[in-house]
Amino acid sequence: MQYLSQLDPEVGASVQEEFARQQRNIELIASENIVSPAVMVAMGTCLTNKYAEGYPGHRYYGGCFAVDVTEELARQRACQLFGCKYANVQPHSGANANLAAFFALAQPGDTILGMNLAHGGHLSHGSPVNISGKYFHIVPYGLGEDETIDYDALLETAKACKPKIIIAGASAYPRVIDFAKFREVADAVGAYLMVDMAHIAGLVAAGLHPSPIPYADVVTTTTHKTLRGPRGGLILCNDEAIYKKINSAVFPGTQGGPLEHIIAAKAVCFGEALKPEFKAYAEQIVKNAKVLAEELVKEGFRLVSGGTDNHLCLVDVRNFHITGKEFERRLDEVQITVNKNAIPNDPEKPFVTSGVRVGTPAVTSRGFKEPEMVQIAHWMGQTARDFDTCREQVRSEVDALCRQFPIYQ
Ligand code: PLP
Repeated sequence: MQYLSQLDPEVGASVQEEFARQQRNIELIASENIVSPAVMVAMGTCLTNKYAEGYPGHRYYGGCFAVDVTEELARQRACQLFGCKYANVQPHSGANANLAAFFALAQPGDTILGMNLAHGGHLSHGSPVNISGKYFHIVPYGLGEDETIDYDALLETAKACKPKIIIAGASAYPRVIDFAKFREVADAVGAYLMVDMAHIAGLVAAGLHPSPIPYADVVTTTTHKTLRGPRGGLILCNDEAIYKKINSAVFPGTQGGPLEHIIAAKAVCFGEALKPEFKAYAEQIVKNAKVLAEELVKEGFRLVSGGTDNHLCLVDVRNFHITGKEFERRLDEVQITVNKNAIPNDPEKPFVTSGVRVGTPAVTSRGFKEPEMVQIAHWMGQTARDFDTCREQVRSEVDALCRQFPIYQ
């Protein structure tokens, strides 16, 4: 970072500023994490210089013998980690992985059944403002009275709309997803089952959430959330014919040259996730989320679905007569970072919301355990209840805790 600041003071200063923010803030954004130094270093290597359109052994450029090894390592490790036959490690992001999967399995205009964005789905699963919603006929499914996925209603909707693809997976769903039930529904209507496990990939890798691999035709994911890798996407499958379609849909279908420096970092991340330490890390993520959830309830918050089985919880803040937007702003002031998030049937607009989403992957990477979760929930309660009188005290206590757990020493 200092080298960068010497060569380009303006960009260097902005990067330093972000580093300082990450050091002093408690990061509760459920989709973020703190990568290892090895993952970070891999991203900053000379592999960024290389064009490698195509796949290992079949490139459209010369000089690919070394990046072929890197990409092959990433593919093999991904398959070993998730127990599947085929992996495409080239998607630049989760949204790109999803787009490629849609174009591999369906034609524009086909019907896709995806989780309602307002109930926890992701915008790349069919929002009208996303290419998925513009090119495909999207039918949403959602949650029942108990704020968990209503599998009976899902089956009825699937029978009525006869989708080409059913997507399981979400951005703000705190409960276990029953992939076997999704498979039954897909089989009942002759649809492909695509699972987007972006949020829970690290938990799946560690055996802490049931794997979608035995049930799904295609599994997509990001590599930067619970999996703790570089920002990027990944597609997995077990069927050779589908794999070929996925490969063509990624390149040349929806992308150009792969980012081999990011693929190197993905390989490092998969290697880390194969180690026993990663299982211990993922177990701590889940323990931390459980304690955070229980303590938030003690502080007076309502949790969507009543709690969590994974790394995140969705917090309804209406008991405190504030909006998600206002709570996000207040927490920012006390150096706790969250994102406002719609709750099911939210009366507020999407940019205002009645909730916030909180997750434990990043704080767990930093070394926080159960006692820190109790403390964080208490600070969140104080910030919701008595912001004007407690903000200075909370900010200085957050600051002191973060100093005890430095990142990238
Ligand atoms: N899929 C899910 C379930 C997500 O939660 C996200 C991002 O939060 C994505 C896909 C998109 O990932 P990216 O931001 O890398 O495009």
